Amino acid sequence: MIELKTKEDIDKLRTANKIVAEILHYLKEITKPGITGVDIDKIAREETKKRGVKPAFLGLYGFPASICVSINEEIIHGIPKNKPIKEGDIVSLDFGVVYEGWYGDAAISFVVGDKISDRKRRLLEGVETALMEGIKACQIGNSLRDVARAIEQTLKKYRLAPICDYGGHGIGRKPHEDPHVSNCVINAENIKIKAGMVLAIEPMATLGKRTNYYRKLKDGWTVVSKDKSLAAHFEHSIAITENGVEILSKLD
Ligand code: MG
Repeated sequence: MIELKTKEDIDKLRTANKIVAEILHYLKEITKPGITGVDIDKIAREETKKRGVKPAFLGLYGFPASICVSINEEIIHGIPKNKPIKEGDIVSLDFGVVYEGWYGDAAISFVVGDKISDRKRRLLEGVETALMEGIKACQIGNSLRDVARAIEQTLKKYRLAPICDYGGHGIGRKPHEDPHVSNCVINAENIKIKAGMVLAIEPMATLGKRTNYYRKLKDGWTVVSKDKSLAAHFEHSIAITENGVEILSKLD
């Protein structure tokens, strides 16, 4: 069942998501060569505590950390490791908080250090552009299939391989609500977009050649590309209102 949110609900969700955006921005700033995923997790917890909110992912379905830290060929759900991050690594951070019972959820990917190859730039630009095109397609009257089409076509334009089995979701008083928001037309639902929907849109893709080519590591969480190609993941939580789409997890 898709729960439509009131203006007051969206106010709470905005606050939750602004906190997520702030913390993610800070974590990106402090991710320098030598830092580990475990360090990032610890800092994420401290920043969450400072703001009087709770990390959303800690213990969620049994996840052992407060943040997903996925490096290079790791696509999503990376468990923070005690291994130094290197210059040139692609780091994807997926983070959420709970504020007064309401959830925020967003993700960013970036290259560590100043040097960035053309391929890595294409990967990051492609997935972030796919996110923005997906958000643009979240118009009242469109369907979730239109959103998937916008995302998939953008990824293909950047010669990236989409991951189709994971995607976005409704968000509210639960971290994952209906509907599922697919990144690929083939498994997208023909659900009409309505005012009051609050959705997390989250395209992910690799520099590989094959669509949906991934496997899960033995840790039971980390999703990696099967061909070891580099991956990226961007996510925003958005609200659909009569006045248009608002990105809740955006820094002012
Ligand atoms: Mg999400």
